[in-house]
Amino acid sequence: MDPRITELAERSATIPGVLRLGGGLPANELLPRAELATALADVTSASPDALQYGTARGSAAIRAWITRRLADRGAHVDADRVIITAGAQQALAIAGSMVANWRIDVGDATYACAIDAFAQGGAHVVRSGGDVHYVIAGVSNPHGIDKVDRIALLRTGDPLIVDEAYAELRFDGRVPRPLLADAPDRVWHVGTISKTICPGLRIGWLIPPPGALSAALQRKMALDLQTASISQAAFARFLATVDYDDIIARARMVYAQRAARCVDAIRRHVDGISITEPEGGLSIWVETLDRGDDVELLETAISEGVTFDPGSSFRPGDTDRICMRVTFSNLAPELFDPAARRLGRALARFRQLPRRPRTISQRIAS
Ligand code: PMP
Repeated sequence: MDPRITELAERSATIPGVLRLGGGLPANELLPRAELATALADVTSASPDALQYGTARGSAAIRAWITRRLADRGAHVDADRVIITAGAQQALAIAGSMVANWRIDVGDATYACAIDAFAQGGAHVVRSGGDVHYVIAGVSNPHGIDKVDRIALLRTGDPLIVDEAYAELRFDGRVPRPLLADAPDRVWHVGTISKTICPGLRIGWLIPPPGALSAALQRKMALDLQTASISQAAFARFLATVDYDDIIARARMVYAQRAARCVDAIRRHVDGISITEPEGGLSIWVETLDRGDDVELLETAISEGVTFDPGSSFRPGDTDRICMRVTFSNLAPELFDPAARRLGRALARFRQLPRRPRTISQRIAS
């Protein structure tokens, strides 16, 4: 990530009244606070596992839950193959670092911290033509739509890192068949509860290809021994007391409504842009024909009282194309209009500024 973006994010968080269209956070109101409070209290007082060391693989109950849900979608996996990770982020970092000098292709734009995890783990991150392919199944971040060409991917015979972070958050509820079902020997399957339940528990998972399981477990152990016992115990308890499908059905409905209002507000107030109408997830991808430094646009936006995520963070190489990821999930719907108006003003002002070339290389390595 361009260090200027991190610095601006920190600075803008301290300015009162700034409307946040950046960040990719799930809605605060959807976090199941009461149920998790009960689960955490229950396991802390009564569960022998919650405060103790556990195994590197992680909670058997959660692994069984994951494999049951995958089986319902056509992928039959032994629960011993699942590693509970500290979020999908750790799963990506492990998967991306397992083979020295992998060339991982990620497409034109993809999840910014996957690019960083792969690059910092020693892989070469490329737009196309890699020997491993990273895809975000069901709903791509940042595009908000399904970009996966299943047939082409399966035809390659190459290793695939398949990130299902948003697969259950398609507004139409059509969760795609896992690629793991069709290429079990070469898919690194990645999942998370961060978008559907809450990111704070830091629970995700990795299902490595069978031949790589032992090495992946060794890597997990070297990183942090195991995922936090208390989070896993609380989530296992939580699962026993809630209907997960009801939770995601409600999230889909809330996010679909917010997405529609956000798209509408941006179309009305921001000139010279094109929007990919989202099919799910938490964000919208907004493209312009402008060129320049999108961090300068972010600075201008903050001075207008709004944030967004600069599109360059999502690109595998340096770029001066101005695109924005706009998060609709964690802003009250009545604030979309003022936020979009501010964004429109910021873009208009940015277009009047003298063009300065992008000089700072945005990535440590890519
Ligand atoms: N993959 C994608 C596509 C994401 O958008 C994110 C979070 N923004 C992650 C993985 C990481 O999620 P987690 O909180 O589970 O580490």
